[in-house]
Amino acid sequence: MSFKQKYPIITRYLTNNTNRRSGLLISPGVKFVVAHDTGNPNSTAAGNVAYYERTANDANASAHIFTDDKEIIECIPALTSDKPEKAWQVLYNVSKDNELYGYDANDAAIGVEYCYGSNINAAESYKRYVWVLAYVCYKFKLNPATAVAGHFILDPARKTDPKSGLAASGRTYEQLLKDIVSEYNSSIITSNNLMKLIKNPSSQKIYAIGADNKKHWIFNEESFNVGKAMELWGDWNTIENVGDDSYAEGHTIILIK
Ligand SMILES: [Zn+2]
Repeated sequence: MSFKQKYPIITRYLTNNTNRRSGLLISPGVKFVVAHDTGNPNSTAAGNVAYYERTANDANASAHIFTDDKEIIECIPALTSDKPEKAWQVLYNVSKDNELYGYDANDAAIGVEYCYGSNINAAESYKRYVWVLAYVCYKFKLNPATAVAGHFILDPARKTDPKSGLAASGRTYEQLLKDIVSEYNSSIITSNNLMKLIKNPSSQKIYAIGADNKKHWIFNEESFNVGKAMELWGDWNTIENVGDDSYAEGHTIILIK
């Protein structure tokens, strides 16, 4: 089983042994996820991480990952490392995280920040936010229906995020929770939803063949960015009898041999 890698995660770790990045490992393990927003409209993922780095010793406040409409940047090891580190994202003296999950968020949660604002494409930023929250659940074997909590749930006296940032971009926290589950379910790859890629030698087209042995997608050869895990496999003759090409707009084709 694996998880669709829809977006690259850019690694831009903060300087270690600073107030924002202690280097302490999450312990005993990642138990939940905290959904935040930046609270600073129009600030970008790159801008926030640069600000963290400039002020690395100014505050014990941080999160692991920022998402905007163009990038997903991880500044404290979480998804991009087998040794996730602590971020200082929820005050230790609030008790809701302990009540809900049995641990303080700083010790056992990954924090993800949503960037929003009039200069940020909300649809694109939201897609990356939902996907990365679902991916954190996958990576750390968490239930996507219960493992994500908004910061405002954990610290209602002080915080409104990410409800407020989502609202500012026309979205709701309740929908976010549902969308994370949908994204999780549709991004899990099992042998049942793998597609094989087969090249038609006479037309230069490449066909994605589903488990139903039907052609689901046709690419122009040049549309492939060949590399990474992408490889053609299969035998053209095995699909000779499928019917007309059936296009399935919106499918994500995972290129795994
Ligand atoms: Zn927050």
